[in-house]
Amino acid sequence: MRDVIVAANWKMHTTPAEAAELAATIASRTREPDVTRVICPPFVSLAAVRDALLTSDPDVGIGAQNVHHEAAGAYTGEVSAPMLAGLASWVIVGHSERRRDFGETDERIGQKLGRATDAGLRAILCVGERAEERDAGDAEAVVEAQLRGALSAHDPEVLAAAGLVVAYEPVWAIGTGRTALGSDAASMAESVRRTLAGLGWGSAADAVPVLYGGSVTAGSIADFLAEPSIDGALVGGASLKPDEMAGIVARAGLTARARLAAA
Ligand code: PEP
Repeated sequence: MRDVIVAANWKMHTTPAEAAELAATIASRTREPDVTRVICPPFVSLAAVRDALLTSDPDVGIGAQNVHHEAAGAYTGEVSAPMLAGLASWVIVGHSERRRDFGETDERIGQKLGRATDAGLRAILCVGERAEERDAGDAEAVVEAQLRGALSAHDPEVLAAAGLVVAYEPVWAIGTGRTALGSDAASMAESVRRTLAGLGWGSAADAVPVLYGGSVTAGSIADFLAEPSIDGALVGGASLKPDEMAGIVARAGLTARARLAAA
């Protein structure tokens, strides 16, 4: 049985003081013991969020939004995986905004995954096609190539043991208010697991959580969680709004309890 996960990507929002307050509020409004909750604030707010959650709700996981592909070195302004010790236990890698704005390639994202895993971080690997790629009928091929590019150099056993999560985030749905159909996301989740199996993951492919991301709100989450192959959401804009997060996590709790009852 796969966990149900709701991860909040706050992107470049919140000062440390704002982040501490928002994290505590969201934590108190999303108490669903069967849902894995993760908050990913900006780097500079990680410590404030950690301290706030320590007293309000230590069950909420904390994630970074990115990590450098080397462990240390002359990389001005960067943050490496070992530096996140004590601050985060999760990390997002390969977000489409980083692919687009910082030219991150699949190979580079694969290196980041390696650093994250070495440091004991649980990675959320983002993949997803652009609108023109979907329109051309290439969505699954694009995502397969992204997965192969990032994962081929890694031992599946190591990544599976590290709890790799894949987030399917169609680029055209991120921050646009448009969402994929639940059924399209489900087909992609199945395709993701087929690709993993093809990369030698064997039965571990079925255990990998696949999240949907792209303009998820409390109003749209049900469409995705109605799909057994979708295990939760990576939420951007709506994750800054406690009411939205309360609704999203409450719906995730229904799925989590239904899975437990069926197990
Ligand atoms: C994201 O940043 O991962 C994301 C899915 O953003 P949004 O929910 O705002 O589309």
